[in-house]
Parts: sequence; C-alpha cells; structure tokens
Amino acid sequence: PRPHPTFRVRPLTCTETRRGDQQVVHSLGDGAVHVSAARHDATFGFSAVFDAGASQEAVFEGSGMRQLVELAMDGFSCTVFAFGQTGSGKTYTLMGPLGQSDTQPASPALLGLMQRSFTCLLEQSRSRASDLALSASYLEIYNEQVRDLLSPGPPCALPLRWSKSRGFYVENQLSVEFESLEAIVSLLLQGSQRRRTSAHALNRHSSRSHALLTIHVRSRAVSAHPAPGQGWGAQGSARGACPSKQGTLCFVDLAGSERVKETGSSGELSVEANSINRSLLALGHCISLLAKPRGKRTHVPYRDSKLTRLLARSLGGSGITLMVACISPSSRCLSETLSTLHYASRARKVTTRP
Ligand code: ADP
Ligand code: MG
Repeated sequence: PRPHPTFRVRPLTCTETRRGDQQVVHSLGDGAVHVSAARHDATFGFSAVFDAGASQEAVFEGSGMRQLVELAMDGFSCTVFAFGQTGSGKTYTLMGPLGQSDTQPASPALLGLMQRSFTCLLEQSRSRASDLALSASYLEIYNEQVRDLLSPGPPCALPLRWSKSRGFYVENQLSVEFESLEAIVSLLLQGSQRRRTSAHALNRHSSRSHALLTIHVRSRAVSAHPAPGQGWGAQGSARGACPSKQGTLCFVDLAGSERVKETGSSGELSVEANSINRSLLALGHCISLLAKPRGKRTHVPYRDSKLTRLLARSLGGSGITLMVACISPSSRCLSETLSTLHYASRARKVTTRP
C-alpha cells in the first residue's frame, strides 16, 4: 500500500481576515486542490481533501484513520503524521484546541484525531474477545535530542540505538499502560505540556519540536475457553489459536517548516528553526528516494536525522502510513503552501510492504 496523503485546508484565522489576506487555496471536490494567485495556478490531486468547513469528525472518518486504528489492533505498525507550515493546523488536527488551552477541556466536537483514535481503540478492544494490553510512550525530538515526555523531572536526552531485531529504538523510554480514555488523555496532556514551545511571529504557541506519541497494542494469547457471558461460537475460541501480536499506532506532530526570516526568529530560535528545517529536509529526502521505483532506488539515508531514524520503519519498511498535509489558505503563505503540496505529492509515490 501507499501512504494516503490527506490534505486539510484550515479556515482563515481572525488575524488573517483582519489583515485582508486573500484565500488562494480551494478544494474542487474529488480530492482536487486548486491554488490560484497572481502568478500561480495549479491543481493537485490527493486521496482526500478537507476544506475549511470540514469537522474534526469528518477528518477522522474520511482520512482512513479508523481503518488505521483497526490495522494497529491486527498487529501492523501504523503511523499518522501531520506536516505543514507553522500555524497550518497540525496540532489542531491531531489534538484539537486542547493543544493550546490547558484550562478548559475542549468540546467533544473539537477533539482531534488522537482522542478519536483512543476512543475507537478502547471500544474495539472491549468488543474484541482477545485480551489486549495497551501502553503509550511519548517522545519529542528537540534540537536533535530525543526526550521522554512522560518521565517526571527535567527532560533529559535519551540515546537512540539500532539493533538487528528492533531496528532503531530509543533506550530507556518509558512506556505507560492504560485502560481508560481518561488515563490516555491525561498522559497526552501531561506530555504535551512538557513539549518545547516558543512564541514567534507566525503562531503564539508554536511547537518547536517533533512529537511522537506511540500506542503499543499487544494481544496476549487467549485461552480456548470463551470468557463468561460470551455466547456459543464467540470469537474468543477462534482468536485463542492466534499467537500474540504486537501492533503500534504512532502519531507524529512535526514541528513546522518555516523560513527563518519570515518568523522573526533569532539567536536560540534560529538554532531551533535550523534543526527543525534540517530534519524536515532529511525526511523529504528519504521520501523522495523512497518514491522512486524499487530498482532505481539508491541507499535511503535514514541516519541523517533522529526523525528519519525513528520513522524509518513506518516510512519505508513494513508500516502503513497516513499523512495529513495541513495548510493555511492565506495568500501570505503561498510559497510554503506550494512546497507542502509538492512534498505531499512526492510522498504519494512511496510504497511499503506491511
Ligand atoms: P500548527 O500546529 O500547524 O503550528 P495549530 O494547530 O496550532 O498549527 O493551528 C494554528 C491556529 O489555527 C490555532 O489557533 C488553531 O486553533 C487554528 N486552527 C487550525 N486548524 C483549524 C481548523 N481546522 N478550524 C479552526 N481553527 C483552526
Ligand atoms: Mg503545532
């Protein structure tokens, strides 16, 4: 299968409207996106396009996210990643407004792909007869350092290692078991608050790190006896014959791509911006190599950044990936929008063997 690029155009923000920005990106239906501005006029095709009016639920149902959750429960490694310019709606798409305000709980209609997936995961795990163990780990990559967002105390860098059996993995990362929606949402909140953010010209609460939340789904082998209360011929006995499986569902909130001069960053901020841009460049490079036909493919330089090492399996190997390209419709963001569209179009050509 190929990664499914899903494309989401957010509404113009109040600031953009007040400034009189023009809306230059339009959805034409059937997966087509049209960009029209003074000197640009181009149409791109994707598997799904959501425009400014699309609800969080529509994005969850229409992007294939539900199927991805089910595949993770069947033992596949699944990844969803949101990318796009800073302020384009990545965090909103993944987490809803909860990403920004830590005082008020978000209204249920605004919950993002993550909370919706957790609900789906827990519902499914209750309805499936097999016994599932769920756990979560949460990391950020900040200035090329991997940090655990769940472990208490000040963030410390963890080593990223490689082994033949596991591929790239983070040593000593915490993995926390959970059984309820409240528990996993509270882990998500705790971790998100520890994420490194800085204010700059494009977004007041911009994430300065890439964050990876991974849900591990481990199915324990079940005994052949159906659990009490299950009818004759319940799935339990059939599933009991299955060996234990382990699937993962990883949510990647990439730090935004940006031009240092547009954001008014300097000093420490420009160091951050450079390391963000460098790892996004490495990711783009791996994706464009992976997009070539197998025979023509040269070595894929996963080792070029921590981000590509951690995503190696989901990008090229045995994973299933859903990409959500987020963009702002504003005329001011045109050049970043075009680069996001090209990036996503390239990623469409990558195939994996789950
Ligand atoms: P990013 O994570 O890409 O930097 P955010 O998710 O923080 O961007 O979004 C930037 C701003 O736009 C936030 O104020 C957010 O609430 C708003 N926003 C983003 N997407 C939408 C949307 N689909 N509907 C309404 N507001 C949105
Ligand atoms: Mg963000």
